[in-house]
Order: sequence, then C-alpha cells, then structure tokens
Amino acid sequence: MLSNLQPQAPDKILMLIEEFKADTRQGKIDLGVGVYKDPEGVTPVMRAVKAAEQRIWETQTTKAYTGLAGEPEYRSAMAKMVLAEVPADRLASVATVGGTGAIRQALELARMAHPGLTVHVSDPTWPNHLSIMKFMGLPYVEYRYFDVATRGVDFEAMKQDIARAKKGDIVLLHGCCHNPTGANLTLDQWREVIDILQTTGAVPLIDLAYQGFGDGLDADAEATRLVAQSLPEVLIAASCSKNFGIYRERTGILIALAETTQARDLAQGAMAYLNRQNYSFPPDHGARIVQTILTDDALRADWAAELEEVRNTMLGLRDQLAAELRQLSGSDRFDFIAHHRGMFSRLGATPEQVQQLKSEAAIYMVGDSRLNIAGLNQHTVPVLARAIIDAGI
Ligand code: PMP
Repeated sequence: MLSNLQPQAPDKILMLIEEFKADTRQGKIDLGVGVYKDPEGVTPVMRAVKAAEQRIWETQTTKAYTGLAGEPEYRSAMAKMVLAEVPADRLASVATVGGTGAIRQALELARMAHPGLTVHVSDPTWPNHLSIMKFMGLPYVEYRYFDVATRGVDFEAMKQDIARAKKGDIVLLHGCCHNPTGANLTLDQWREVIDILQTTGAVPLIDLAYQGFGDGLDADAEATRLVAQSLPEVLIAASCSKNFGIYRERTGILIALAETTQARDLAQGAMAYLNRQNYSFPPDHGARIVQTILTDDALRADWAAELEEVRNTMLGLRDQLAAELRQLSGSDRFDFIAHHRGMFSRLGATPEQVQQLKSEAAIYMVGDSRLNIAGLNQHTVPVLARAIIDAGI
C-alpha cells in the first residue's frame, strides 16, 4: 500500500534551511525561515514564558484532557487580546494547533456552512494557505495585491478583484504584517475593503499571525477590530507562535463572529466537532502559558515590554537597511523596506538575483525575494546592502 504513494515536493523554505546548514562559508547569512532571531541569531524563550512555565509546573495538578474547544479562560484572554471589546453574544472560539490549525479549521468550517464557496487570497500569500486549500480541494482565486513597481499594495487592483467575491465566499486577509511582502493596507483602505465585503456578502477570514510585530499589540489588531465591529460574520485565525515565541508549542485560536446568538451556538458546536474530527483535544501547554501571561498584570507587562524590544529591533534594522541602500544606490528606491511592517519584506528581485545573492554572497532568502528582517543584525545589514547593489537589484 505505502509504495503507491507519490513523492511529495519538499517544502522550499525547509530545503533552504538544509542548504544553509550545509554551506561552509564564513559569514553566511540566513534570511529564510520565518522565525524571530535576536542580534546574536538566537530565537529566545521570552522571560514571561519561562516564568509562566515555572508557575504552571508549580501549580498544575492534572494533565487530564481539556475541553474539545480548549480552556475557556485561554479563549477569553485571547479574544480580549485580539478584539479588545469582546462581543460575547456573537463570539464562538476554539483553541487550535497553532495558527495553521486555526486556518485549516476556519476553511473546514466555511465549507461546512457553504459547500459551494470560493476562497479569495492575495497574490502573493503565505504558501501554506495555497497548499492547504489544494489539499482540501477547495477552489480559490487570487486577488492582485503586491505592486512590484512600488513594493506597496496595488489597492485599486485589489479592490477590483475582491469585488468579484460572491455572497458566502471567503476573502482571506492578513490582519497585519503581510507575509511574504511586508506591504500592508492603511486603516482607510481597510474601511474600503469592509465596504466591499458588506456589498458582496463575502466573509473575511483574517489571518493574524504577527500581532505585536508591526506597529504594536493594539495597532496591529486595529484593522481586525474594525472588521469585527463592522461586519455580521467574521472568522479570525490567530497564532501565538511569533508574539509569544512559542513556535513549537502549537498555540492558536479560531474565532468566529456570528450574526445572531443562535448562529454563534451553531458555530461553536461545529468548531468543537471539527477539533474532534481532526485531533480531538487541542494542545494545552502553550495555551496555559499564554493564559497565565495575559491574566497576570506583572507577567503581561514584562511580556509586552519584551515584545516591544523585538518589534523595535526589527524596525531599527529596517531603518538601517533602507538608509544603507539609500546611500549606496543614491536613490530612495529602497525606502519601502522602512515602510514595510513585520518580519518580512519582499525585495522584488528576480529568481536569478536571489540565486546570485546565495552563490556570491552566501545570503539566503526565499526564491520570491522574501527576506526575514530578523535574520539580520547591525553588522550584517551593510553586507546585505552591498550584495543587493552588486546583484543589480
Ligand atoms: N499565517 C501566516 C501568514 C504565517 O506566516 C504563519 C507562520 N509562519 C502562520 C499563519 C501560522 O503559524 P503557526 O501555525 O506556526 O502558529
């Protein structure tokens, strides 16, 4: 039986990691995988996470199953972090296996509710969005998003494309820190997107994987909050992997806002059912950490402060790289790097130029020229800037 299996194409980013490891050149720079690294190249365990784990170790009395939807205290702490004002009469939620699990469950839920739906996704988007939909056999179309000329959002094109969504379709939007481009909508543009969704009756699915990595914990959730307040039905898939630095704990949440309390109850039942079918109970250790931090003033303050350090480190690197490139190129054509937000920027380089950066300068980035800003430090920024100019980007 097993010999009937077809070989799967290896994940491009994971392949890049292997290639990087095998490279013996001194001073090689890894800007590939989407993991925060401090200036020493370490992905640290955050202070508040350590403290919360210690507290959990000291006080936890059982490892018996949680509820199918995860612990209510975790879900309400997360709903508050994401939405600030929680519309309890409209809100259903389940703990999930990371943000990826939340996206998968959201798509399953949408298909259960409306089997004929099409999903509208940005071009480009996080490749896993596409591969999950392909795997599920879910029809999707791409809406234009990235403007190669400005490295910003081609908003007119985006509006035209999402206006084609039909009632009950899903429009997948990145809540902040767009992956892979780093280019984001302004709040005014979000308002226009909301108007289009209102007119079409399509339902937004907001992927919120980087809250706190762009302009701040509240600022990064502002668009999501606006959507939640404005539209009758909203799905939100939030990840704790990045902002709590608990990548391997697989901690996320799916939030569904329904139009009525009855619809909320149906959604809650369907979401718990989906957890049951896919993996039964969601993992709890990461959720316990997050809940412990979010519900304790001192731990929360310390976590928020460390997250701000992380965010400001990345902003500093963005500014430094843009300034360096301004000087070397004698132009402001790389200023988009300072305007982008989150861990990534898409340089807009050709695959050949990306290859050249790798072969000549030992600088690794994803083939579409997405670079992880957090893979840099003060000393490697000038090296990258020089290599970008040398590659003719
Ligand atoms: N959405 C986006 C856009 C992401 O970049 C990621 C992480 N790479 C996720 C969702 C999900 O992250 P995780 O499953 O690790 O929580």
